[in-house]
Amino acid sequence: MDAYTLSTDIYCEMCATDIALINIDTHLKGPFTDGGGEADIPQHCTTCDLFLENPLTDIGHNYVQLACDWNTSTKHTVALKIWSDFYNIKPQNRRNNDV
Ligand SMILES: [Zn+2]
Repeated sequence: MDAYTLSTDIYCEMCATDIALINIDTHLKGPFTDGGGEADIPQHCTTCDLFLENPLTDIGHNYVQLACDWNTSTKHTVALKIWSDFYNIKPQNRRNNDV
């Protein structure tokens, strides 16, 4: 999925188009393929929160794995369901209540 940036924010194609239509002098950069490229976290559009399907670094992979592991005893958030499916990361059988 293509992504666009403006300053330090990242946007999906639809939101970037809206921004460009509202302000033709804006300095959006892109498109960048793969959701803006490899990052330490899953990237979401600043405006609409759409998941941009970027590849992850090792740090990002660990981040998603930990997020999945620590949510096995509670209801998964939409983001975790999206991330775990896209990155094929499954919660490990950590039992958070055994402290
Ligand atoms: Zn968007």
